[in-house]
Amino acid sequence: MCQTKWWWIPTHALEAYVSTKATDYTDALAEKAVQLVFANLETLYLDPADEEARDRVQNASCMAGMAFTNAGLGIIHSLSHAFGGTFHVPHGRVNSLLLTAVMEYNANLGGKIIDRVCERYARLASLLHLPARTAREGTLSLIQAIRKLKRSIGIENGIHELGVDRDAFDEALSRMARSAMADRCTPTNPRQPTETELECIYRKSF
Ligand SMILES: [Zn+2]
Repeated sequence: MCQTKWWWIPTHALEAYVSTKATDYTDALAEKAVQLVFANLETLYLDPADEEARDRVQNASCMAGMAFTNAGLGIIHSLSHAFGGTFHVPHGRVNSLLLTAVMEYNANLGGKIIDRVCERYARLASLLHLPARTAREGTLSLIQAIRKLKRSIGIENGIHELGVDRDAFDEALSRMARSAMADRCTPTNPRQPTETELECIYRKSF
């Protein structure tokens, strides 16, 4: 059984945490939600009858919801709304497939890193006891841990594994990117994208 339905929890928490509207209150909720997800999601996946793990994951869900309701979200959701509406894939599943590509974009890992974003990701990495001696190292650790968690609960490696046709995807790209650009979640993303950059993230996630 694939628990992609739970993937809106870490996505909600991670987007709220780096949102331009994050506050001390939403940070506290997002931090706890991420810790609970990492400590309990795989356990729940392996044993869906584990009531304690289920309880903790439900708490994480509620906390992540409180965080994003107050801090807003980011372009994972903008891209997810446009993609899900076009290809009719459930929200949590699409989020899980876009998550790490958006984190890499937000952090600008391919160039000069964006310190204020990487420091946020590194703070979460520290809370998860991952290597985070620098902001870059912490960001890479967090991304790696997310990939590992995704694998451990059977989440696909990319959009192509959903059976989405490549030609149909390419044909929809510019329309989806335009829609994502205008999405209400885009203004609170920590890095303001161009439509071309949004298309690149889609391609990378394919
Ligand atoms: Zn969501």
